[in-house]
Amino acid sequence: MTEPRAAVATAITTFALVGATALAVPGTSHAADPYPSRPIAMVVPFAAGGPTDVVARSVAAAMSKSLGQSVVVENRLGAGGTVSAAYVAKAAPDGYTILIHHNGMATAPALYSKLPYKPLTDFSFVGQVADVPMTLLGRHDLPANTLPELVSYIQKNQSKVNLANAGLGAVSQLCGMLFQKAIGVDLQTIPYQGTAPAMTALLGGQVDVLCDQTTQTLPHIKAEKVKLYGVTTAARIAALPNTPTLREGGLKDFEVKVWHGIYAPKGTPPAVIDKLDGALKAALKDPAVVARMQDLGAVIVPEDKQTPEGLRTWLASEIDKWSPIIKAAGVKAD
Ligand code: ASP
Repeated sequence: MTEPRAAVATAITTFALVGATALAVPGTSHAADPYPSRPIAMVVPFAAGGPTDVVARSVAAAMSKSLGQSVVVENRLGAGGTVSAAYVAKAAPDGYTILIHHNGMATAPALYSKLPYKPLTDFSFVGQVADVPMTLLGRHDLPANTLPELVSYIQKNQSKVNLANAGLGAVSQLCGMLFQKAIGVDLQTIPYQGTAPAMTALLGGQVDVLCDQTTQTLPHIKAEKVKLYGVTTAARIAALPNTPTLREGGLKDFEVKVWHGIYAPKGTPPAVIDKLDGALKAALKDPAVVARMQDLGAVIVPEDKQTPEGLRTWLASEIDKWSPIIKAAGVKAD
């Protein structure tokens, strides 16, 4: 837990210094500076080293190259990603504070009755980034080797089995909720501030089951440090070609695919959004990003989705898709 706080502290120190310099310059000349004239904060809602953070850092490094300014990742943790989204919704709409977030942008309105922002109207959209499959994992010594064995073990030991996630609004929570519904159980869930600490707990045997993205799980799967029960996508994935989908394992219609978008506060000038979108598109063609995403099992979205309109229409469709599912499941964060 200390690591993410340290990351925020470092970023804030950088901005405090930059802010002091900016204050010394009269407002008009500062406003005339070509964008970007100072570092940009990319706010990440989950712990450093986790799946969202890994995608963010790769893309931020590449965006820095084409923008000619550092894009500094700032981890702001809490409440399944809603702390970060609320922070960016209220930030100055000047292009110096942007957010990278996943499906949580679409699920939070149904989970939180007092959400302090409106995903569709409190942001300017930059574009979608990459889609990531999830994997259903167990601790290495769980006495179940296949999905059917896991399901029967959980059904027989419901009161003993727990499920880790990254809080209400995280995709790990969404995946875990759908899994529990599909097999008719109600497990104790243990929320962390990201799946990086949740994975540490799984590796240490303190939690039993975790649903998480390949961007974090592949190395642990390959090292056989966890048990793998299936992938959450509708079809098998290139990174794990011999692993069945949860559908193949008997969970009818099961599908969770994690998508990522980059947002700025509402009212960010169109010229700034254009620069950010251009930098995003360039980043997603950068050979270092392409190779990193491939290694992590992530799929870069087509160029028409790497756009403000591509993200906005997708977010609207995802809100429409998940709100009734979450309401029917009766899950509430507050
Ligand atoms: N994978 C996490 C989630 O469940 C987020 C993270 O830690 O990056 O949403």
